[in-house]
Formats: sequence, C-alpha cells, structure tokens
Amino acid sequence: MTDDATMDPTRLAAAAAAIVDGGRRLGSRGLIVAAEGNLSVRLGDRILVTSSGRRKDELTADDLVLVPADPAVRAVDADRPDLQPSSDIRIHRAIYAARPDICAVAHAHLPSSLALTLAGLVPDPAALPETALFIPRLPYLPLMAMGSPELAAAIAAVFADGLEPSAVAVLLERHGAVAIGSSVDAAVDRLELVDLLCRVWRDAAGIGFRGLPTG
Ligand SMILES: [Zn+2]
Repeated sequence: MTDDATMDPTRLAAAAAAIVDGGRRLGSRGLIVAAEGNLSVRLGDRILVTSSGRRKDELTADDLVLVPADPAVRAVDADRPDLQPSSDIRIHRAIYAARPDICAVAHAHLPSSLALTLAGLVPDPAALPETALFIPRLPYLPLMAMGSPELAAAIAAVFADGLEPSAVAVLLERHGAVAIGSSVDAAVDRLELVDLLCRVWRDAAGIGFRGLPTG
C-alpha cells in the first residue's frame, strides 16, 4: 500500500483491512475468479483501491494503491511503481464524484449475472423479500467497453439519477454488477444480494418462470 504523509495511518489501515476482507468474502463465495473485480474506499480526496492484476481474494494491504479522487490531480506516490490501480478506477472516481454520501465501491463479475444477461434476462429485485428490501431498484446497463469513460459515466449517472429510492447497485450486461455503500461490507453485501437474485431468477427460468406479472 502506498502511503501518504497527510493520511491518518489508523484510518488508512482500517480501510485497507476492510478491502482485504471484502476481497476474501467475494472469493469465498465464488463471486470472483483470477484477477477479476475491484474494491475501493474513499478517504477524503483520495481513493484506496485494489491494484490491477492481483487476485482480490488473496490481497494484503501492500496490494492496494492510494490515488487522488480527482483524475486531474497527479499521483505523487512513487514508492510502489510496480502497482497500477484497478483498470476500473474510472468507475470508482466517477461514482465518488457523483455520490459524496458514499464511502465504498465494489465490483464483481458475478457468474450468475453473466449467465442471466447473456440469455437476455434482467431480474426484478421485487421478486424476493430480501432484495426488495435492500436493493429496491436494480438499474440495468447495456454492454459497454470495459474501462471506458462511457461506462464510468453511465454507471455514475445511474447512482445519481435523482430517483427514489436511490440505486445502491447496478447490473451490467455480461459484466457483473457494481454496488456502493457506507462501507466495503455494505457494498459487498449488496453484491451478494444481486448474485442471490440472479441465481434464483436463473434457476426459476430453467423450470418455466417467465417473469413477474406486470400491471
Ligand atoms: Zn469488470
């Protein structure tokens, strides 16, 4: 983990521990493989984020990168030039800029959501009591290039669309989901609930379910 003279070390260590734990949770549930996924915590005008190319279920604090929240601000961290922030750092920056109230972002290529959206199905969180309560809205975005400014802007716009209740997770066509929260734990909880919804929807579709009645 790159350090910064102005950052409270206790706060930095707590954020790093939360990210490390979040990565282990996602891995233990089969929600990430290889180097997929990314997690971050906002710390003032900085973002502590997972580095590119590392397994997120085997992270240590040394695998995290502290970057400016504002992409226009040049990073001064030079003690770990071998670490690059997540290739999805644009998404994290755009969300934090759009939602000053949230502190954590988690993204995973949930296998259940990949299958469902590949089949052209989009689940309704109203179908299950838990998701209806904790993810009352699950906006859906069509496939866009990974790492692109367009994808980052579209995701941030969904989280700041002004609708009530505000979105806490977004489903991406063939690209998993992104969840936000006041903590890494809260964001990972939401990814788990999106996965639960997608698994149930996929299984129900396999035995003839064709979606909730409309009207
Ligand atoms: Zn991704």
